[in-house]
Amino acid sequence: MIVILLASLIMVLLACLMAWILGWANRAFHVEVDPRVSAVLDALPGANCGACGYVGCGEYAEAAASGEAPPDLCPVGGDSCAQAVAEILGIEVGQKLPFRPVVHCGATYDKRLIHSEYRGEPSCRSANLVGGVQACTYGCLGFGDCERSCPFDAIHVIDGLARVDYEKCTGCGACARVCPRNIIHMIPFKSERVMVVACSNHDPGKYVRQVCKVGCIGCGMCARKSDLFRVEDNLAHIDYDQYDPESMDEAQLALEKCPMNGILYIGEPGPEELEQTDGEDVGEPVRDEFQTTVDDTEWHG
Ligand code: SF4
Ligand code: SF4
Repeated sequence: MIVILLASLIMVLLACLMAWILGWANRAFHVEVDPRVSAVLDALPGANCGACGYVGCGEYAEAAASGEAPPDLCPVGGDSCAQAVAEILGIEVGQKLPFRPVVHCGATYDKRLIHSEYRGEPSCRSANLVGGVQACTYGCLGFGDCERSCPFDAIHVIDGLARVDYEKCTGCGACARVCPRNIIHMIPFKSERVMVVACSNHDPGKYVRQVCKVGCIGCGMCARKSDLFRVEDNLAHIDYDQYDPESMDEAQLALEKCPMNGILYIGEPGPEELEQTDGEDVGEPVRDEFQTTVDDTEWHG
């Protein structure tokens, strides 16, 4: 009996000792956590996509709370999120344009002039390593690496060409990061729809004509019609710093005069633009029903 009582007493003393040690360790090793970090974390959408440049929302929340990162780095959360983060941190958020992905290729299957059969792994990364899947070595491969990378189901391969659904797209940039052909670029959307050059081919025009019906041949017609355009290394570019959606007359002329129809609008025309154009052709929005060709084992792209 005495042995049992003694053992119980020792256990109680040990428990008290351990509790005291834990209490002491808790006080001695306590790390002060800025309560704003969890508040910022709550304000973020929690996509953990890395589009802010940090590993995840948690790391960005810490960086924002410490003043290392601005409050408006989360493209998924957009303006309202930036505003909420700025309010938590007691700072102002500057005006920022939304950046959205543009696929610089306009060649669907029927626009590509030379195809060869590809029976390898149906991914753009793999197909890009194999020469001759399609004669244009700059264009969209259409196996949908971008589609699979998108956390928001906002980019789909249709008729062999990746197309963005700008209603769903948050501008996280995941698609641009995975495209092995580097043909998806993030550009500032200064209006609901934006004019783009839908080509990435830098070959001389005579070779472009051999492989694609809509590729840029670098003829310079657009640059002669509008200062917004310049041709570099056989390919037309638009200067988005100078892009002014309120002043597009010359750019519209460039679009109309392009002999390859390689300049187009993407996104949706806004109500004001529809009113201004009053029924004229405002360029076809790049949006279609979801379909995929990625599951095809035989590829004709
Ligand atoms: S299409 Fe998807 S992956 Fe690409 S930027 Fe938009 S949301 Fe991100
Ligand atoms: S845009 Fe998408 S489908 Fe086209 S090559 Fe790049 S990752 Fe592949």
